[in-house]
Amino acid sequence: MAARQLWFVFVILAFAGAVGSGGRAAQASGGQQAGPGPLNIIAFGAHPDDCDGRAGGTAVKWAAAGHRVRFVSVTNGDAGHQSQGGGALAARRRAEAKEAGRRAGIDYVVLDNHDGELMPELKVREQIIRLIRQWNADLVLGPRTNDYHPDHRYTGVLLQDAAFMVTVPNIAPDTPALRRNPVFMFFEDNFQKPAPFTPDVAVSIDDTISRKLDMFDAHVSQFYEWLPWLAGRLDEVPKDPAARRQWLATQRQGRISPAVRAALVKYYGAEAGAKVRYAEAFEISEYGRRPDETEIRRLFPFFPR
Ligand SMILES: [Zn+2]
Repeated sequence: MAARQLWFVFVILAFAGAVGSGGRAAQASGGQQAGPGPLNIIAFGAHPDDCDGRAGGTAVKWAAAGHRVRFVSVTNGDAGHQSQGGGALAARRRAEAKEAGRRAGIDYVVLDNHDGELMPELKVREQIIRLIRQWNADLVLGPRTNDYHPDHRYTGVLLQDAAFMVTVPNIAPDTPALRRNPVFMFFEDNFQKPAPFTPDVAVSIDDTISRKLDMFDAHVSQFYEWLPWLAGRLDEVPKDPAARRQWLATQRQGRISPAVRAALVKYYGAEAGAKVRYAEAFEISEYGRRPDETEIRRLFPFFPR
């Protein structure tokens, strides 16, 4: 009986010791504040132009400030056209994404999963976990999980499934785990159910909107063919490249919601925040590391002090 009690005490002490060292390890990694070096930002979209629309203007600002930005399209976009498809369309869209990345000064990766068929399955979750680890991400961006397009929804689910798991060494063990969970944030959308988008941070892109349109302009198959065709307006698109780039600018007017306007006022002040014409906004995911105000300003080093 006594021996058994002794063993029990030993187990308790050993367990406490393990917890203690784990706690110290967590504290040490939590204390690894990234210094003044470049930030590593990775954004995931379902299709080869999705990230451009939601974070292109902010990406240009990060890149111009010397930070590392990678956009990832989780599908190859091989369903996004009215008359082309399959491998030929995937190759075309991969080249368009590469050109958009070149224009923005960022890296652009297109994964080879079929467009319109994305499922929140383990294989793709592991692809995403590896990419986040390889980028040593400080910040991960992606869509929310309620959206009209199943590929968008499942990209959001896959990112939520990858959050935290990026820190678990036994998951996808061929790629070393991160020692701390990155901050995960959602792109802005207009869907209201089950909850509207809540902007935790908003960035003025008035100074980069033209560069963002240059990114759109690189996706010729989308902005001059597929999207106008979907809208029944293909005949309005000018044939001449310079004329269609001008036409594109007329199609994209800034619309800033009251909630995003309030976030702009918070970060830029009442006067400057009220004047912003184009913005991109982001909502903190509860499944990543929770940034405080200091860290938000470190991740988005664009605001007046
Ligand atoms: Zn899309």
